[in-house]
Amino acid sequence: MRHLLSAADLDRDGAVHVLDVAEQMAATQRREIKKLPTLRGRTVVNLFFEDSTRTRTSFEAAAKRLSADVINFSAKGSSVSKGESLKDTALTLEAMGADAVVVRHSASGAPHRLAHAGWSRSAVVNAGDGTHEHPTQALLDAYTMRRHLRAAGSGHALGRDLHGVRVVIVGDVLHSRVARSNVLLLHTLGAHVTLVAPPTLLPVGVGTWPCEVSHDLDAALTGGAPDAVMTLRVQAERMTTTGGGFFPSAREYSRRYGLDRRRAALLPEHAIVMHPGPMNRGLEISADAADSARSTIVEQVGNGVAVRMAVLYLLLAGGEPAAPTPGGDS
Ligand code: ASP
Repeated sequence: MRHLLSAADLDRDGAVHVLDVAEQMAATQRREIKKLPTLRGRTVVNLFFEDSTRTRTSFEAAAKRLSADVINFSAKGSSVSKGESLKDTALTLEAMGADAVVVRHSASGAPHRLAHAGWSRSAVVNAGDGTHEHPTQALLDAYTMRRHLRAAGSGHALGRDLHGVRVVIVGDVLHSRVARSNVLLLHTLGAHVTLVAPPTLLPVGVGTWPCEVSHDLDAALTGGAPDAVMTLRVQAERMTTTGGGFFPSAREYSRRYGLDRRRAALLPEHAIVMHPGPMNRGLEISADAADSARSTIVEQVGNGVAVRMAVLYLLLAGGEPAAPTPGGDS
C-alpha cells in the first residue's frame, strides 16, 4: 500500500490485514508504556484545511505512539489563508522531509491530487475530502463492528471479515464521506448494507452503490434485523450554499430519521449503535440512544487511534518512500 485515498484501495485481504494489525496495535496500547519505536526518524504531517477534532488528534496520537515526528499544519493561520495553492503547500512540506501527509480538505479529490501530481514523495492518507471519502473512519467502524460482533450473543460466527453482517446507515448520505467509504469497505468485507435517507439527502447515482436504499427507517430496523445502526450527522455547514430545504424542519427529520429510544428498542439485543461524531444530539440521534449501553460512539474514537497506527505503520514501515512520479503536472 503506497497511499490510502479511498476505501476501494483495499481488497478483502488488504482490509482484513489492516484490521488485524490494528488489533495488535490496540494490544500494545493496553501496556503501561504505550510508545513503540517503529516510526522513529519518520515525519508525519497533519495537513488540515477543514476543521476537525477527533480525526486530527487521533492521527497525531497514532503517529506519536509510533515515535514519528508530527507536524500539525492547519489552514487557519497558515499561508493557505493568504492564498497559497495546494501545490505550493505540498512543495513546502516536501522540503521539510514529510514521509506521510495526512490530509483533510473541503474539495473532493484533493488527497488524490496530492498523491498523484508528482509534487512530493510522501505517502498520502485521506482524512476526509469534501463529500467524497474518509477511509480511516470506515476502517475504524469495521474494526468496532468486528470486535463487538465476534463477542458471544451476536449469532455470528465471524471470521476475520464481516461476512453476513447487516448494517443500516441512516441520515445525511448526500453530504457524507463516511457513508460512501463505509459502503465500499463493508461490501468488500462481505457485509450487507442498507442506506436510509430522505430522497433529498441521497446522492445522484446511489443506485449503483453496492447496497440497498430505503426511505423508511422503521422498516429497515424491524425487517432487516441489523447488527449495527450507524447514524450520520446532518451536515448543516454543507447545506448553506443551496439554501437548505433538504427537509421541512428539524422536528420532522427527527421524527422520520432520528434514532431514539423507541427505535433503538426495535433492534436485536446484540445490535450496536454507532455515530462517527460530532453528533447533533436531539436531531439525528437522541441523547438516550447515544448514551445507551449498546452505543459504541466513544469506543469508536479510541479504536480510531489503533486503526490509524496500523495504517501509518503499513504505509511507512515497509521501506523507503518512492521517488516522485516523473512527468507530474506543474
Ligand atoms: N467526522 C466525520 C467527517 O469528518 C463525520 C462528520 O463530520 O459528520 O466526515
